[in-house]
Amino acid sequence: MSELHHIVIVGGGAGGLELATQLGNTLGKSRKARISLVDQKLTHIWKPLLHEIAAGTMNPSAEETNYYAHAARHYYEFVLGQLEDVHPDRKEIILSRTQSSKYESTTAPIALSYDTLILAVGSVSNDFNTPGVQQYCHFLDSMAQAEIFQQDLLHLYLDAQNKNIERDLKIAIIGAGATGVELAAELVESKQNFYQYGLNKINPQHVQISLIEGAERILPALSEKIADHATEQLRQMDIDVLTARRVEKIDAEKIYFNDGHSITAELKVWAAGIKAPPVISNLKGFEKDRMGRLIVYATLQTRSDPNIFAFGDCAHCVLDAREAALAPRAQVASQQAAFLVDAMKARIRGKQQPMFQFSDRGSLVSLSKNKAVGELLGQVNVQGFIAKSMYVSLYRIHQAAIYGYTQAGILTVKDFVTRKIAPKIKLH
Ligand SMILES: Cc1cc2nc3c(=O)[nH]c(=O)nc-3n(C[C@H](O)[C@H](O)[C@H](O)COP(=O)(O)OP(=O)(O)OC[C@H]3O[C@@H](n4cnc5c(N)ncnc54)[C@H](O)[C@@H]3O)c2cc1C
Repeated sequence: MSELHHIVIVGGGAGGLELATQLGNTLGKSRKARISLVDQKLTHIWKPLLHEIAAGTMNPSAEETNYYAHAARHYYEFVLGQLEDVHPDRKEIILSRTQSSKYESTTAPIALSYDTLILAVGSVSNDFNTPGVQQYCHFLDSMAQAEIFQQDLLHLYLDAQNKNIERDLKIAIIGAGATGVELAAELVESKQNFYQYGLNKINPQHVQISLIEGAERILPALSEKIADHATEQLRQMDIDVLTARRVEKIDAEKIYFNDGHSITAELKVWAAGIKAPPVISNLKGFEKDRMGRLIVYATLQTRSDPNIFAFGDCAHCVLDAREAALAPRAQVASQQAAFLVDAMKARIRGKQQPMFQFSDRGSLVSLSKNKAVGELLGQVNVQGFIAKSMYVSLYRIHQAAIYGYTQAGILTVKDFVTRKIAPKIKLH
């Protein structure tokens, strides 16, 4: 049995995998601590790619990172399992097995003990208990959900082709934050690509994409100027942007608004806000916000237990009492991961815990292949190809954090070549 301080990270997403890599490469490699990463899946995918996977413009298999293979290279252990409960009194977490097969001899839960626990399990869509959302909407919380949407979209095209019937298609996205806007724009790309590859029974002109927002304008987290510019761009792409529309209920055919109106849509995607995953919101004895997220100090320690940290989307972190909690963004998760590397080194040495400081590098929203809009450093507006290049570079920075700069560079070249030869849309 190892005497080393055992740091257990739960959730190998945008933040968790960067943290496990950097802790593995430092404390793990020098045997100053034992690092374990738990995830419910066998592979990692960077969540901001999910709208491209859903629209079929990105092939997910090329972008996945296998946790076991990655762990072996970066001096940490990978544990496959789904977090079910945390027992701070015993310093133990309980995991259920996620990959059941006929070869498995037991389905008993796994208990894993820790000295320091770091929770980074992300978020799920918040349906605000709107009737019909769970039954009739797609979500973009995981790769599996993005792939289900991609398959449903593809099969509508294949069905029209097989039946040789020309038809229209109505897609509605509820929520015009970054996720909804990016998906809407990406679907414009998809409808052109399907047509180009001969799936021509659904003419791009007969695909209606509606983007529905409850607030007065789209992209509420960004400035009005950026939102106006994005709205104009989306309208030029023939996307129907509906603002100040509160969804009351949804059924198989329609989306009903609280003003008595409704619209028809075959494919409906819910992207109207986030909340903590149930395993976090159901944890007993922890302070949480109204979205069920764990409230943390600027050290990223939970208020109830200094041995338990939380960061990324599942944490509510306020650094300045005059400001709102940090937004659920990959940029926040990534900076917190880098901070926690130093925080863990200080902890192992018995030093005082540092305080996290966030440096807002801006927000960028992709408007498909060659365009993006956003703000740098919270005020400089950028748009067009330059903004898109910066947007793409965010993924490259994530790749550099988990693979190192050389491999990230090789992957950039590989992607460039693949894009030249692969179909522009996934047709299987
Ligand atoms: C379509 C889309 C586009 C986006 N675009 C942007 C963008 O352009 N810029 C930006 O900054 N942000 C963007 N975001 C938000 C960004 O993806 C999140 O803020 C970020 O991924 C949060 O990182 P995280 O590490 O907290 O969680 P995640 O990246 O969500 O990772 C959570 C991990 O925890 C694992 N997990 C969950 N529950 C359990 C459990 N019970 N047991 C074990 N493992 C578990 C999951 O499998 C996953 O690997 C986008 C999100 C979406 C959906």
